[in-house]
Parts: sequence; C-alpha cells; structure tokens
Amino acid sequence: MRPVLVMAMVAAVLVGAAGAAERSPSEFAAEAKALADLYEKQFGEGYTTHIDSRWHLVYVSALDDRTLRNVTHLLALYAEAQQRSLFREPLLWNVTVVLPTVNDYRKSSPPREVAGYYNPATRTLTSLTTSDVLIHEFTHALHHSDEVRANQRHPVWLREGLATLFQGSRVVEGGRLEVLPDPSLAMLQGAIRDRGIPPLADLLVMDHRAFTEKAEICYPYVRHIMLYLHQQEKLGTFYEAYKAQYTADVTARKALEATLGQPLEAIEKAWRAWLLAREPPWTPAHPTVAHLGIRMRRAPEGIMVDAFLPGSTAQRAGVLKINDIIVSVAGRATPNARDLAPAVQSCKPGQTIDIEIIRDGQRMVVQHVLGAIRE
Ligand SMILES: [Zn+2]
Repeated sequence: MRPVLVMAMVAAVLVGAAGAAERSPSEFAAEAKALADLYEKQFGEGYTTHIDSRWHLVYVSALDDRTLRNVTHLLALYAEAQQRSLFREPLLWNVTVVLPTVNDYRKSSPPREVAGYYNPATRTLTSLTTSDVLIHEFTHALHHSDEVRANQRHPVWLREGLATLFQGSRVVEGGRLEVLPDPSLAMLQGAIRDRGIPPLADLLVMDHRAFTEKAEICYPYVRHIMLYLHQQEKLGTFYEAYKAQYTADVTARKALEATLGQPLEAIEKAWRAWLLAREPPWTPAHPTVAHLGIRMRRAPEGIMVDAFLPGSTAQRAGVLKINDIIVSVAGRATPNARDLAPAVQSCKPGQTIDIEIIRDGQRMVVQHVLGAIRE
C-alpha cells in the first residue's frame, strides 16, 4: 500500500479534527480499534496489534510477544515519568506505534537515513529499534500533543532538547530519570574549547533547517542545555514558565532567564563552565573495533558483521555471527559505522551489553561481554 494512501485512510479514522477538543473514553476506544484494524490490514501477516488504553497507545508490531511486552512496558514507564515531570496532561489522541520488519520500514518511506520517525499528521511513530530512537520519537509524540493542547509551536532546540535528553536516560525506581553517560560530551567540550559552537542566543532562534545543517553539534548542545536544567531539578519549572510566557517569547530565552535567575550571557558562561568540568565517559586510546573485535560493513539497517578480529572476545564468545546486522549497542542506535564507536565507548571493557541485531531477517537482542583495548 502506498504511504500517501495509508495516510489518507488513517486521517479518515482519526476522531475529530486536529484541534484540542477533549475526547471521551468511548471515542478513544473506537478510534484505537479502527486504527488497529486499519494497520493490521495494511501490514498483514506476521503483525500483531495491542491497545494500551491507559496511555492511549496503539501498537502494530512485527516483534515477538515478549519483546513487544517489554516495549509496551518501557513506553508506559516513560509516559508516566514525563507526565509527572513535564507534559502534565494525558495524550489528546491515540498515538500509533509501528514496529515493523526492516523491509516494511523501508517501504514506509522514512524521511531521511533515520531509524525511526514521528509523523504528526497521522500521529504515528515508526521505529526500527526498541531503544533510544524509539524513546526519542516517543518524546516528540507526547510533546506534540502538549503543544496542540496549549495551541503553541515550540522551537526546534526545545523539541530536540527534550527528545535527546529522554533518549539518553533511563527511568528507574520511583519514576526517576537517570541520565546515562554521554559519548558526545567529549566532542562538545572540544567544540567549546575551539569556539566551534554557536552562541546560545543563536541556538534559541535557529530554524529547523539551520539546526539540521549543524546536527552534529546541535543535538549534543541542546541535550546538555536540558541536562543542565534537569540536574538542578529545574526542567519542569522551566517548561511550565515557557508555556506560560509563550506569547511574549517563543524562543524560551525569557523562560531560561527567569528559571535560572540570570541574563542569557551569564547563563551561557555558567553552562560552559559546568560542561567543561564534567567528566566524559571512559574513552579508549585505540579504535573501538578492537573492543567489539569485529570488522564491519554497511547495511541499509545498520552495521553488518563482516569478520572477527583474530582472537577477539567477539570471536571467542560466538554470540555475534558473520552477517549479523547490528542495530543498536547498549541502548544506542547504530545506523552507521560512525555510531558504533561512541556506543561502545560509553561502556567499559568487561561490561555485559545488549546488542540488538537482525539475523536472517529476525530482530533479536544478544548479550555480549566487551573486550579490553588490546585483545
Ligand atoms: Zn528529533
């Protein structure tokens, strides 16, 4: 089925217009069922649907039952944590979470070379991974509903800042957010020292295009602005202040200044000092291929294992096999070879990590013990 046609059909089953009108539980239920039926028909054999009426999520999945249960549990945890800290109200509508096979994902015409995306027009999230990309796009989905509720359109720095913060975090006991070590920190620190990052005032007014042109620096940049607020337990206050003064300042500069009690220039100075004082996660002196112990080659869905380095733990453990396609490592998506090194470097040698792979067309997660620098 062509994506355009699907979009029209989805639009037809969505209850009401795109407005912020509150819907009743029976409207929610009827829409969820219509969406599940429609997507099940579209994807056909090998797919199951699951409706989470508590969080207004409709799952359409090619995953095995156990993995799907893990995913529904994971998203419920994040939805709850984000409702408590940020987006206070429940979703205005059902969000469909599509977890397709690799082939079907490619047919869904993803916007760029990405492992997942959220389409606000159909309120559908499609993700190839069940980890960080999924959480990133899920944050966009929750945020989108919150924006429509408030009749606002938030700037790209704010949207991506929240998505990247949650993407690199884990919800732990009591719904607390534990921020994971970030391999992009060392790069960001280097960029600050080399004056290679735009001033904060410029970041706040960037449009989507300018932001994506400097994606390599902008994503870690906005993540660490949000992290700065989060660590001072001011993220929720900031977001609320921002929404309250939205008409006076769309960029959120005023809200930052009010929340942190300083003019922007002083905030920027303090933020840089804070950032430069942070310790980057363990980084090796040698290329990371030595740690995982593989030679790799590009595949459309990720990184294909081409060969093992002789004597490497990867070879000895026999967990990975030649032609496995690595989709994520330790919860980080690895769509390209250049994503692998930071993913592995965020862990320590000897650590057992989850590697999400595609083997003979099947997605699965394997556990692997990382080798030391010189294997
Ligand atoms: Zn994003």
